[in-house]
Amino acid sequence: MTKHTITLIPGDGIGPEIADSTRKIIDATGLKIDWEVCEAGDAAFKKGIGTGVPNETIESLERNKIAIKGPLSTPVGYGEKSANVTLRKLFETYGNIRPIKEFLGVQTPYSGRNLDLVIVRENLEDLYAGIEYMQTPGVSECLKLISRKGSEKVIRLAFEFARSQNRKTVTCASKANIMKLTEGLFKRTFEDVAKDYPDIEAHHVIVDNAAHQLVKKPEQFDVLVMTNMNGDILSDLSSALVGGLGFAPGANIGDKYAIFEAVHGTAPKYAGTNTINPTALILSGVMMLRHIGAIEEANMIEEAITYTLGVDRYFTRDICPPKMTAKTTSEYTDCIIKNFGKKTETYQAREHKLMKLPKVSTRPDFVTVKDRKVVGFDLFVETVKKPKEVGVFFEALLEKTSFKLSCISTRGVKVYPTLKDLDDGADMLTVRVMAKDQSLDVIDCDITDILLQLGSEIRWTHVEKLNVFDGVLGYTKVHGEN
Ligand code: NAP
Repeated sequence: MTKHTITLIPGDGIGPEIADSTRKIIDATGLKIDWEVCEAGDAAFKKGIGTGVPNETIESLERNKIAIKGPLSTPVGYGEKSANVTLRKLFETYGNIRPIKEFLGVQTPYSGRNLDLVIVRENLEDLYAGIEYMQTPGVSECLKLISRKGSEKVIRLAFEFARSQNRKTVTCASKANIMKLTEGLFKRTFEDVAKDYPDIEAHHVIVDNAAHQLVKKPEQFDVLVMTNMNGDILSDLSSALVGGLGFAPGANIGDKYAIFEAVHGTAPKYAGTNTINPTALILSGVMMLRHIGAIEEANMIEEAITYTLGVDRYFTRDICPPKMTAKTTSEYTDCIIKNFGKKTETYQAREHKLMKLPKVSTRPDFVTVKDRKVVGFDLFVETVKKPKEVGVFFEALLEKTSFKLSCISTRGVKVYPTLKDLDDGADMLTVRVMAKDQSLDVIDCDITDILLQLGSEIRWTHVEKLNVFDGVLGYTKVHGEN
């Protein structure tokens, strides 16, 4: 029997209790696992390690390639970033797989509908990169960066995961109707990648409707793939369909590393009470076993959980019906082990093959173009002047240059030239400046010349070039712009 060495990060709050439970159950299957127990989170922050992840933990993961972790609390008042985010970024776990599966015995409004769907969430990009700026004292900005490569990797992962479990459809949920370049890139990539998986049906749904459909008729979905924030929100929503965060496992998958963890956090008020539901981390362990090829042991644990909940009716506090006494975390854990090998009528293991990890080029210039030019630029300015006044100022400023004013907008809506003034402005305007000769490529010093001519009453806060790649506009039109 192959011996595996796995990094185990117990984590903060309820982490150590659920990690103990998971380790005990996996060990009881007879698998030979050497657990390398490592620190991250609170303990590391308190030692002054700003990332929340000590070097020994990083080295352990580099050696072992696989980790299972309890939740880590996000520092408030000390430390720099979340240790979770540090781990995800350091080990480039670009895809987060979150299964939503109904368990016999767990009463929810959806009981008996055999829910079994999976949300695959992009894990490294999007608004969660946390790149934010105050444009003015009263206007903030968060950059939503979506790459073709990042999208392709997670979308291929979703299709490969579907194949590994013999699932029939993958649905992309996006907001491409509004965010045509970011969410739109994700959707277009999905449509391209889907062609490589003719055995799997590919659908698209607008993400707000996906939320509605998930509550109304969740069984219509098989695998859903989404950008980071959409996936985060909809996977939490979906976990509630099957009994809540206590039943929501997750796997963070990268090219070289995989980190398994429950979706939930440290639930600090329950720490040390031996009352928490450990199922989400145990099921994350089940995903980990499948990932390393221990499919039989994984199925055995899953069926024992089904028996414990559905036949023995052992419930922890979070799902315990009113007239029953809740079991402790350790009683529940021991009961699962006792039920190894017991069969339930309803449990049927899904088909699980080892998942093929997608191979996507690591070249930074993932998308190349034959032709490109800059046709103008958007200048974000801080000013309390009326848009018309700013418009007249720019028309005069640009008159003797190679540029012309196209329009002025505020938060995406054109306010100059316009037929009607908006009543409620902000102290930030976006001035769209275009080259008079659209066949030329705008050069940087022409842009900086304009910036140097702005007076102190109009401060520029941000410049965005307007690119055209192979004849396709690399920017969106302002609402109301021709
Ligand atoms: P949370 O820890 O997930 O807890 C929210 C609530 O969810 C709990 O109060 C409890 O609900 C329920 N819950 C969570 N885990 C459960 C379990 N195993 N069994 C049963 N119920 C469970 O979220 P939070 O309070 O927002 O976050 C606490 C800390 O965790 C924060 O520092 C946050 O940053 C961190 N966090 C870490 C991760 C991670 O490590 N991956 C993820 C999310 C949050 P009731 O109160 O209704 O009983």
